[in-house]
Amino acid sequence: MLSVETTDRRLSAYEDVLGPDRRDNIRDRADRLDGKRIAHINTTADGGGVAEILHALVPLSRDVGVDVDWYVMDAPDEFYDVTKTIHNGLQGDHTTLTDEMRDTYRRVTRENARALEKRYDAIVLHDPQSLGMAPTLAERYPDTSLLWRCHIDLTTAADAYLEFVRSWLEPIDRTIVSHPTYAEAVPDEETAIVHPAIDPFTEKNRPLEELPDGLEGSDPSEYPFDVDRPLLVQVSRFDPWKDPLGVVEAYRNVRETVPDAQLVLAGGMPDDDPEGIEVYREVEAETETDEDVHLLTNLPDVGINLIQRSADVGVQKSLREGFALTVSETLWKETPVVGSNVGGIPLQVEDDENGYLVDPEDTEATTDRLVRLLEDDGLRDRLGERGRETVREQFLLPRLLEDYLTLLASEVD
Ligand code: UDP
Repeated sequence: MLSVETTDRRLSAYEDVLGPDRRDNIRDRADRLDGKRIAHINTTADGGGVAEILHALVPLSRDVGVDVDWYVMDAPDEFYDVTKTIHNGLQGDHTTLTDEMRDTYRRVTRENARALEKRYDAIVLHDPQSLGMAPTLAERYPDTSLLWRCHIDLTTAADAYLEFVRSWLEPIDRTIVSHPTYAEAVPDEETAIVHPAIDPFTEKNRPLEELPDGLEGSDPSEYPFDVDRPLLVQVSRFDPWKDPLGVVEAYRNVRETVPDAQLVLAGGMPDDDPEGIEVYREVEAETETDEDVHLLTNLPDVGINLIQRSADVGVQKSLREGFALTVSETLWKETPVVGSNVGGIPLQVEDDENGYLVDPEDTEATTDRLVRLLEDDGLRDRLGERGRETVREQFLLPRLLEDYLTLLASEVD
């Protein structure tokens, strides 16, 4: 297990978005957690929504006086092949989980649990990757509360994978999911619902003019697109569930009406996602002759910020989606989003209010909403402004901190 370093965050920086009740609640929960030790465990420090959240939540929890550590598992590539298969199975894929894969999962999660030297009052295991550590942790530290934070949409999980997950849940004291419908898959009456959130003060989300000069990736002229022409942007890992090829198809349809439209697909290649490069190559092969499609990989945070602000419309055409932090990130920048009506997207996108919701299979509706927004500056401005309010009210980091501290305090009291 590897301990992850984070950059300091101060709760005082959030005064404007905090409100007195939330501030008091956070202080109260932090007092109740005084002297308690908490750990978060996941599989990657960079790339994907979970790492994004922990980089914000862990240092902010420390700032309010809670003793929190964050570890990433130490695992070979074959483990990530197995956990990606499990992830896909939980999103509805029916590939077989072989005995050999189960053995790899059991072995690596057990080794990681054995490697945890320090005793904690509560440990939050993120996603199916680290769930397998639960039995060994429970054996070694019987007094530790174990929470499983599942970030995945479980509503269409293949039965075999749901059974697999359930087989590890016995030592778990509390499960946390992002949407009430995901809780139905988990046999725990106490399942908590916590929506993820974004940090408005990071290089990814702050106004560009407030960032230090000269940051790598902050110069708009470095980018291959033309900001004076219509721009569609999807920021997502290159993953079949994010449907990058479907986005390309939608863009092509849009070009029939808006011939100068451009498309940016930006995606990182996280360590725990072995499928990324394959999907990237597929999309590259499909788009290489089109000068107005740009595939951007491993952009720094300021680059993600810049393209979400440069976009006329954000796209999130996922086929399954636990939450999609990218939607809140985009709405926060007053860019309306056309998103699939799946998983966590409808928690954030309100149809005709801050963007549009579409059935991901409905190409005609997707094209129609994209064109409608690209052709109407006033509509984009109105929906964009409301999007920022949606995020301000519901999806900013202090709310997430309050939710986590409340849960942890109730577990360790
Ligand atoms: N992200 C990034 N660079 C990329 C692609 C994604 O920093 O090239 C970030 C994105 O801004 C967001 C997170 O990765 O903060 C993705 O989280 P989300 O919940 O949207 O999806 P997940 O990857 O967890 O399925």
